[in-house]
Amino acid sequence: MTQSIIQLKSQQVILPHGARPASILIQDGTIISLQDYDYEDQKVSQIYDYQDAAILPGLVDSHVHVNEPGRTDWEGFDTATHAAAAGGITTVIDMPLNCIPVTINAAAFAEKLAVLDDKLFIDTGFWGGATADNFVELPELLNNGVFGVKSFTIYSGLEEFKAVNRDQLLNSMRVVAKQGLPHLIHAELEPEGTKTASIGKSYQSFLKTRPADWETNAIAMVIEIMQILTKEGLKPHAHIVHLSAASALPIIRSARASGLNLTVETCPHYLVLHAEAIPDGEASYKCCPPIREQDNQALLWQALKDGDIDCIVSDHSPCTPQLKNIDSGDLESAWGGISGLQFGLSLIWTEARHKGFSLLEITKLMAEKPADLLGLTHKGRIEIGAQADFCIFAPDQGYTINEHCIHHKHKVSPYIGRKVDGVIKATWLAGRPIYADGEFCSPSRGKALLKGRYK
Ligand SMILES: [Zn+2]
Repeated sequence: MTQSIIQLKSQQVILPHGARPASILIQDGTIISLQDYDYEDQKVSQIYDYQDAAILPGLVDSHVHVNEPGRTDWEGFDTATHAAAAGGITTVIDMPLNCIPVTINAAAFAEKLAVLDDKLFIDTGFWGGATADNFVELPELLNNGVFGVKSFTIYSGLEEFKAVNRDQLLNSMRVVAKQGLPHLIHAELEPEGTKTASIGKSYQSFLKTRPADWETNAIAMVIEIMQILTKEGLKPHAHIVHLSAASALPIIRSARASGLNLTVETCPHYLVLHAEAIPDGEASYKCCPPIREQDNQALLWQALKDGDIDCIVSDHSPCTPQLKNIDSGDLESAWGGISGLQFGLSLIWTEARHKGFSLLEITKLMAEKPADLLGLTHKGRIEIGAQADFCIFAPDQGYTINEHCIHHKHKVSPYIGRKVDGVIKATWLAGRPIYADGEFCSPSRGKALLKGRYK
């Protein structure tokens, strides 16, 4: 049965080519018309006037570690997708680790799909993995609905998700390129014979163990492989996840200028936290690659402004407080990963607004470009025919992040105590409000997104 028409209006609707006062008409979960703010229509059954709060497309976060099945004590689909919704995110893509089993073959992917039940509060898709030992299983995995694969060029932290060497990466990127899918790379390359350094509680000691040139060298290897595949007549798409080292930007720029489809993401922690201010003994700040110095950070912001980095995504990667060594403060043995899924937009907006970024630019980085990476053309933008997913955002209001407002599983985050600008007033998924004024207001209604089968 066709649903009645709903009208959302605001003085600031973030459309693909600019922000303006507008009305959005939606029906059956889809945007059917864009009109002036004062538009009136007798067929409209409900009007939501958000006044000065901006209407953004629902954010798309293509980098989330949900860890279910197998490590549901770290996180899970229920808690992660609720936290995302509270952050204005309407689509997340789950990483192929640290769940058990890791998502490196069709059977493991089926196990993941089997535990979803009705846990998905928002739309959720999945990456597969390309490791040192799953080459023969890759084609079947790619055919089963993952959005692409992720590989590590350095130890992943898990024995069962093996890093690839150059030749293994070349072979798997060839298979993925033939499928026309993106190949995500955790790009750090550790020189052979690197000695284990003592870190203890010292952040500076930890930082020295993961230098910037490890990232640059790995990215140079990826570019070289892309050049080989291009000569073979393929069109590889490599995507560098969580870029931290600004020193890699020159080779990224020249690779892109030469026509290679090399896309790049970075994360809020690299853009709002910096090494000089990280206290020792606080493992909630530990992640790989590490958060670097302030001058490095300034170059990342410039690269976002210049269009050299495509997306900002969370890399939400939680674990239990015990594994994070919250009590002992030992960085050396603490699990790496930052928790902060729901705070991305406020964290970024707080900094970006003072650096001359518009809400439109931030919307492109956090909604439209990640949707493009995934080929989700009906997501990440407010236009006729798109899914009616929205993030209602009050850019001039603020709040302080505290433990009570965290919706991910464990109340651990380096952002606790931080004052931020911009409040998520409401989140809409497929034509209905699912979160409003701090409360979830809907049953779980997210869909599992399988590549090529979501419409
Ligand atoms: Zn990650």
